[in-house]
Amino acid sequence: MLFRFNTPPPPTLPSTLQKTKSLTLLIAHPDDETMFFSPALQSLSKTHTVRIWCLSSGGAGGVPTVRRAELKSAATMLGLDAKNVRTLGEDDGGLEDGMGIVWSQEEVGTALDRLEREEGKGDGWITFDYGGISGHVNHCSLLEGLQSYLKVVGRDDEPIWVLESVGMPRKYSFWLEALWAKIVPYSPAKGKTRFVNTWEQWRQAQDAMVNGHESQMRWFRYGWVGIGRYLLVNELLEVGSPAFEASQTPRVSKEL
Ligand SMILES: [Zn+2]
Repeated sequence: MLFRFNTPPPPTLPSTLQKTKSLTLLIAHPDDETMFFSPALQSLSKTHTVRIWCLSSGGAGGVPTVRRAELKSAATMLGLDAKNVRTLGEDDGGLEDGMGIVWSQEEVGTALDRLEREEGKGDGWITFDYGGISGHVNHCSLLEGLQSYLKVVGRDDEPIWVLESVGMPRKYSFWLEALWAKIVPYSPAKGKTRFVNTWEQWRQAQDAMVNGHESQMRWFRYGWVGIGRYLLVNELLEVGSPAFEASQTPRVSKEL
């Protein structure tokens, strides 16, 4: 069967990622971690302490208390420890979830400052790239906000990896991506690594979305879960690396 691809070898991690012990995944909404970052989380949770910090409780798409609980549940299904998951909400400095709401660098920085004071520092970050995968403005606000925050606190040498956005046809080319990964050995460029799930890991990621984030499973999400490539393949780019520079076009920002 075409989909029963074999277990791929472990990804060759860039040296800076190998040196990092504690990674913090910065996301905008409960379910971002599963819809977009599953393969990276499922792999890196075996070798690193991985935390998830979510800057909104997803009030535009459900009940915040439910969505907070769902994020912890889904993260556990992906191999993380629920105690390493933190979601900010209305009562503790969370940002407002919304398609038309751009989060300023200052707002993102204030949220990060609060989380670092309460949860402690890690030594590396993962977040969305400038394209935000889906183009949601909340996603697109995170990288610039994180970079600005690290600059302000004097830690702008701290490594950041971003999830590479791809065009629409590739977003739904699940089986082609799997086939390509099987046929063509991956040759990591400097500052780039790729995570490809096994069949079992892909089913785990589906389970984390369908059952972990049950309140979010409306009809239009089944295409993403069924043939979307981000539950199967992730490419992380290290900010500042040649691979990142070749891939990314910064947003036009009035604040930078
Ligand atoms: Zn989102």
